[in-house]
Amino acid sequence: MTSTANLLDVVAELATRRGLLLPSSEIYGGLRASWDWGPLGVELKRNLKAAWWHRTVQTRGDVVGLDAAILMAPRVWEASGHVRASTEVVVECTNCSARFPYEQLAREAPAPGVLECPSCRGRSFRDPRNVSLMFKTFLGPAEDAAAALWLRTETGQSGLIDYPAVQAASRRKLPFGIAQIGKVFRNEIETSALVFRTHEFEQMELEFFVEPGTDERWHEDWVRERLGWHHDLGLRPESLRLREHGYDEHTVHAKRAVDIEYLFPFGWAKLETVANRADFGLAQHQRHSGRDLSYYDQERDARYIPYVIEPSLGVDRCVLAFLLDAYHAEEAPTAAGGTEKRVVLRLDPRLAPMKAAVLPLSRKEPLLQLARQLTAELRERWMADYDDAGSIGRRYRRQDEVGTPYCVTVDFESGTDRAVTVRERDSMAQDRVGVDRLTAYLDERLPR
Ligand code: ATP
Repeated sequence: MTSTANLLDVVAELATRRGLLLPSSEIYGGLRASWDWGPLGVELKRNLKAAWWHRTVQTRGDVVGLDAAILMAPRVWEASGHVRASTEVVVECTNCSARFPYEQLAREAPAPGVLECPSCRGRSFRDPRNVSLMFKTFLGPAEDAAAALWLRTETGQSGLIDYPAVQAASRRKLPFGIAQIGKVFRNEIETSALVFRTHEFEQMELEFFVEPGTDERWHEDWVRERLGWHHDLGLRPESLRLREHGYDEHTVHAKRAVDIEYLFPFGWAKLETVANRADFGLAQHQRHSGRDLSYYDQERDARYIPYVIEPSLGVDRCVLAFLLDAYHAEEAPTAAGGTEKRVVLRLDPRLAPMKAAVLPLSRKEPLLQLARQLTAELRERWMADYDDAGSIGRRYRRQDEVGTPYCVTVDFESGTDRAVTVRERDSMAQDRVGVDRLTAYLDERLPR
């Protein structure tokens, strides 16, 4: 069993060795908290986003999609309060020069009024400075105040300001939602473990517009729905909990907010927030833009500014949680009657980067031709791997540790009985399957 403390290192080693995650700009020494998603990581991330989109947009009918620009008029961020709220007071340790948010040090203070550096335990700091959490850039040739833009820190604001246009174009009545997946940027002072907290990451966010007065019920519904999604995709119930935001956290402009927390190796931490933002955002944009953002409810002959329920989830942080939760190191029986250590990612097959791998027992004909043909057939439907290098046991282990649900072995009988052996990842049970039935066999077993 891998100890909890060790789990993060073990998963980091696996993720980097197998190309799920690659340190960004590595040949230039890397960039702090910056990661590239490698070939298998891209697939895992795409599958996670597809699972969210499938459940949140495709199967509901009361949610539509949006892919808004990252660069928006700066007044959006002034109206939303981000420009004002997104500064953090940062202090620097005079001994080791590490920088920390003042709030964090005050929270972790060993005694009232005493700040202590978490890196070197020093207690002397340079004067606090205000640091903006928003990345600034400039549009056009002049780098002056008039040309300044912010990189977005969340996708939700575009859902709010586009809502009248989206509602009219999609002819939706309230309640209805706008879902979005996209990159956001935050100049975080403290970054951490792998992709848990980085400067750029993807968000999956929903702005769900409801009539005031129905908001509390909708908020409850969305908390339940979002927790259910994490369970359904395989996060263990004991690794998840709900945490109600305290009164002092209501700076995020919410009437109520509930976090879905995951038990990371370093403790419980936020995976997602489901907030009832009331009409704060829309009222602010109405005031600042001068546009009427109210909704006319024909059935009730009433006009009001909708309340907004917002489930907001970080894709990268969520992938990390699924990787940690899926990681298993166990003893498995060998063909020779002994046991050996096997690492297996028990990812839900919907998330698995590769759905199947074709493994010919020999590189000689006619096995090779059949294996190539089967790989090509499977690739018409799914991401499928092909591996003809090394012993079959090693090839199984390579697939297990990246969570491939099915291995298809083409052996010396396959040419004559036109059948292959299919091995299931978790049970390691094997089935002999006719090559003509292989696609149908996998189709019956791989959830959509
Ligand atoms: P935290 O308390 O961790 O700083 P936050 O309150 O800033 O999070 P939100 O603004 O609610 O987070 O963002 C929505 C989600 O985006 C979070 O629940 C988390 O999953 C993810 N997220 C937030 N900040 C980061 C980051 N710097 N890197 C990776 N993911 C992040």
